[in-house]
Amino acid sequence: MEWPLTFKCNNNCISCIIDTRMTCWLGQQSKAKLFEIIDKIPETEIFGVTGGEPTLREDFVDILAYARKKHPNKFIFVVSNGRKFSGKDFVDKISKHKLEPIRFGIALYSHKPEVHDSITQFKGSWNETVNGIKKLLEKGFKVELRILVEKINYKHLKKTAEFIVKNFKGLERVVFINLKYTGNAFINRRKVFVRYSKAAPFVEKAAETLLRANFEVMLFHFPLCIMDKKYWHLAEGITKQETELTLIEACEICKVKEKCPKIWKSYIPLAGEEEFNPII
Ligand code: SF4
Repeated sequence: MEWPLTFKCNNNCISCIIDTRMTCWLGQQSKAKLFEIIDKIPETEIFGVTGGEPTLREDFVDILAYARKKHPNKFIFVVSNGRKFSGKDFVDKISKHKLEPIRFGIALYSHKPEVHDSITQFKGSWNETVNGIKKLLEKGFKVELRILVEKINYKHLKKTAEFIVKNFKGLERVVFINLKYTGNAFINRRKVFVRYSKAAPFVEKAAETLLRANFEVMLFHFPLCIMDKKYWHLAEGITKQETELTLIEACEICKVKEKCPKIWKSYIPLAGEEEFNPII
């Protein structure tokens, strides 16, 4: 189960799948209400903590600690922009609780501060995110980097991969994610849109760099026919939004349609269907 702790965010990413003009007005649930929700999470499900930016809640650590107390073995996954973890004592405060098994999924867009900050629309965000990742790793937390592939960053993903190898020892894995064109990403489509097939060779080179350095790599929302077959085994993941995915008519005869991660429905009106060619 994934649950947004708040819709507030200290970034305003141009490729956010939420229309942040709408959500910045939304309130957040009380701690008591969240505890009730946590009580009811089925034992078989993980607890995915999302937002907005979940770390902005003053009771963020209390909520994680409560989830751990209530469900001693449940896997907790926190999706975050990572900025708050750079703050004085914040990671220390988290590490005082025995929260394992837990993983932090942090969005990093580029090795270039100016590229990352132009996507988050917040000067200085790259610096805080990178420091936040380092602090989590220093404390021994499991960290996954999440890189959205978009017009502004795709050409230099290999350099971004080299930066990751050099700076983030102990990272659990790197996930490249093709964009869903909803919310801010749709509004800013002229700035962020890139064809999957155009970006794929750059993602493959970045993946190769990471794999050679023994990092785990996953590719989310990469329809198989736009990629070199060599990387298909990395590309079977999705972000669990099945209803927003589709296959097209041409996929009917495709040999790999059962294992294909499918195509974002929101991508097709912008890109058409021509780049998807069945494997026969
Ligand atoms: S043709 Fe369709 S099913 Fe086959 S790999 Fe491409 S998107 Fe997937």
